Amino acid sequence: MTSERSAHMSLRRIFLMYLAALAVLFTSVTASLFLTDRVTKQVEVDASEINISGRQRMLSQRIIYLSQDLLTSDGADTENTRMALRTAIEELEAAIDLFEASHIALSTRSDLDAARVELYFASIDGATPLNARVKDYLVQARKIVDGNDTAQSLQRLKEIERGGLLADLDKVVAATEAASLQRLNTMRDLGWYSLIIALAIIVVEILLVFLPGHRLIQATLDTLRARNVQLSDAHKSLQAKTQSLLAKNEQIASDRKRLEDAWQESEALRREQSDFTYAVSHDLKSPANTMHLLLNEMSLEHAPKMDEDGNQLLEMALGTVKRMEMQIEDLLQYCWATNPQSEPETLDLNECVSDVLVEFNDEISQRDARIDVEPLPQFFGHPMQIKVLLKNLVQNALKFQLDGAQPQITIGVNDLGPSGVIELWVRDNGIGISPENHSKIFGLFQRLHVRESYPGTGLGLTTCHRIARNHGGNIMVESEEGAGSCFIATLRPAALRPSTIELDDELSITRSAA
Ligand code: ADP
Repeated sequence: MTSERSAHMSLRRIFLMYLAALAVLFTSVTASLFLTDRVTKQVEVDASEINISGRQRMLSQRIIYLSQDLLTSDGADTENTRMALRTAIEELEAAIDLFEASHIALSTRSDLDAARVELYFASIDGATPLNARVKDYLVQARKIVDGNDTAQSLQRLKEIERGGLLADLDKVVAATEAASLQRLNTMRDLGWYSLIIALAIIVVEILLVFLPGHRLIQATLDTLRARNVQLSDAHKSLQAKTQSLLAKNEQIASDRKRLEDAWQESEALRREQSDFTYAVSHDLKSPANTMHLLLNEMSLEHAPKMDEDGNQLLEMALGTVKRMEMQIEDLLQYCWATNPQSEPETLDLNECVSDVLVEFNDEISQRDARIDVEPLPQFFGHPMQIKVLLKNLVQNALKFQLDGAQPQITIGVNDLGPSGVIELWVRDNGIGISPENHSKIFGLFQRLHVRESYPGTGLGLTTCHRIARNHGGNIMVESEEGAGSCFIATLRPAALRPSTIELDDELSITRSAA
């Protein structure tokens, strides 16, 4: 970002330098053209000056020559010579007029021309100014032409001529030529200066515009190349990542397939095992019942005839058979809960609770237990399973109490919103469970107390856990030792339950609905 900014600044600076150089070049070319034009015009004026002053000198010389000729000639030539002299005089007058007008104009323009004007108009070293001498010269020549004082006028002409008239006119010509030459030199110099300025501008442009511009372009190209390399590296790494993700995706898909297969296999095994357990339990139930009847019969008919040891053994056999029946009953219940055959339906939880409590009527009244049931909603689930869940939780709440304590049990539901998911809870004031045992108690055959203190099979909460899972939820306990317990089962309505493969509490994979 910073390099882009500095490149932008450099580009701006180079562009400004380029514009400045162009401006200088334009100004110098314009000035050069203007000055050249001016000098050229002056040179043109100079050329005319040289021409006029040369003509002046030539006419002056001709006048004296024709004057002499006129005074010495006779016959027919005299008129011709006079005519020629008159023409020369008129031409000289015209030349003088032109020259003076030009010189007066020039005298206002520069010191050099003023010096030249001085040569013609000023008195140098006390001598009569040149223009006065030229005019006097003309006056004398006119007199000769007109035939007045001819000898004296010729004499005066000669005196003026000898006094250096021609030489002074030569000086004016030379000064004019020198001025013109100087102007030509100035023009040539201007040409050189223009060339030098143009070269200087080219050098300045090379140093300040083209070289930095070239460097900038080079740097920009390098940056672009580097970016290109970076982009191509990023592209390659992206491609590699995509490849690796695709590979992982494939791996996950194959793992998922394997897990599904394994789950289905284990599910089939579990069902098989459950069916087997159910069949065995069911088959055991009848002999156990028969044994119970026989032992009861024996107790009624033969107990008085037996000694104390015999009676004790009979008692123990009756207790064992009862436990066996209880275990078979719980095992059948567990197997039935793990293999739900029934269809879900909308059920009134208030009715479910009432049906369950009826089973405990005797115990409730014997122990003066207090049961509070909060208003409960309807729920879409398996009625028999919900009843077994409630039965086990209420049974434990009544059972796990201190001796002689009055059980206080509350049953309620937390509605978890419009999804219909509920938390069904059963709270008691019993002996409580220490936190380290909270997860243990839901395991198969897990019990925290000896049978003599609190009878049981260790299958009740396992069955509850299975039923909660069957309803797409779970079960947990909030409890402290000696502070009562609250069992909370989260249950989803059957319609909302995702079809999931649940391998354990952490890992669950959503399956496409069959
Ligand atoms: P069971 O009741 O046949 O012993 P459960 O699976 O129902 O078996 O319960 C497992 C163990 O959890 C119980 O043996 C008991 O130690 C503990 N437990 C269950 N419910 C309660 C409760 N309401 N209060 C205290 N302890 C409980």
